[in-house]
Amino acid sequence: MMEQSAERALLQSFLAFGNPSSIHASGRRAKALVDDAREQLAQAFGISDPDELLFTGSATEATNTALKGLFQWAKKEGRDFHLLTSAVEHEATLETARFLESEGARVEVLSVDGEGRLDLEGLEQCLKRRAKESLCLVSLMAANNETGVIFPWAAAARMAREFGALFHLDAVQAPGKQPDFSLADTAVDLASFSAHKIGGIKGVGALYVRKGLKLVSLLHGGAQERKRRAGTLNVPGIVSFGAAAAALSERSLGAMESLRNELETSVRERIEGVTVLGAGASRIVNTSNLLFDGVRGEGLVMGLDLEGFAVSSGSACNSGSILPSHVLLAMGFDKSAAQSAVRVSLGPQNTLAEIHAFTEALEKVVRRIRTAGTRA
Ligand code: PLP
Repeated sequence: MMEQSAERALLQSFLAFGNPSSIHASGRRAKALVDDAREQLAQAFGISDPDELLFTGSATEATNTALKGLFQWAKKEGRDFHLLTSAVEHEATLETARFLESEGARVEVLSVDGEGRLDLEGLEQCLKRRAKESLCLVSLMAANNETGVIFPWAAAARMAREFGALFHLDAVQAPGKQPDFSLADTAVDLASFSAHKIGGIKGVGALYVRKGLKLVSLLHGGAQERKRRAGTLNVPGIVSFGAAAAALSERSLGAMESLRNELETSVRERIEGVTVLGAGASRIVNTSNLLFDGVRGEGLVMGLDLEGFAVSSGSACNSGSILPSHVLLAMGFDKSAAQSAVRVSLGPQNTLAEIHAFTEALEKVVRRIRTAGTRA
């Protein structure tokens, strides 16, 4: 629930005619709103200096800025660029890594186990083998967007620093979902955030860049964001991001976790042949990824949509064909299983009554699909 002051700031930002880069009074008013939001984000994410945060159009842009910006910086300095990442990262990281590889970067991809847990020893081996003169960046997610499995990112960041490498965190899934999430006292050098993942407006992101770290700007043009991200700022989006970050401290993660646990217990009781992915690992509190034997994910998504529930299947739709989830494939599931899971994400607004209604609908849809399958 947004406080009145947050609502007022958001309304002001929509009404504000000024561009925060302009020096007239209405421009200064818009800039003050952006500065307030930057402080709210810094406080919520454990960042000591708000100027270490720059606003972007999405977390995807933030991650592109971090990875490509460092690659370009290494190039300028005549150094090789070495990127270490994992097989279950979001496409924002994996596609950028593929692009950088095609541009000459050395890319190594770490594996995960059947529960989606990171191979931390594998990371240590890669870091030990790295060429000392190269610029080495480790880019990992805080928590996986499909399974909710939390990576030991603080330990990985310490390890990276120990071996002279930089560390980028895709923090999109952590704030408000990973208990005690904070960058304070960590060895994280860069981190990507997304407004809409914490209740802000879609189309805004932020990148944390540790003070003193050099990277080449992705966008060229105006001198906004200390010359690190050209382009007029999305003031209402940024204000909503700040308000959402400030409201995170009121969120009860315990309540969300109880609902998620209730959902999984009740699904296991009511429906046969179900696997809860990553159940043996530590997970963020709101995500449940369910695999039903013999039931395709997209059928479940469509069936549940007709019942009034929005869930996602991990598999992506590409040129009309359903691709298996790269996350499930990396966890060792076969192609057919990797097309069968559905991800349920809970929000702070969900209730126990909704969980019960959902499991009832899920049971009905799974039974319908399985019965149709046996008749076919
Ligand atoms: N990283 C993770 C883990 C995500 O879950 C997402 C979005 O779902 C992104 C990056 C991309 O965020 P955005 O939609 O702001 O570009």
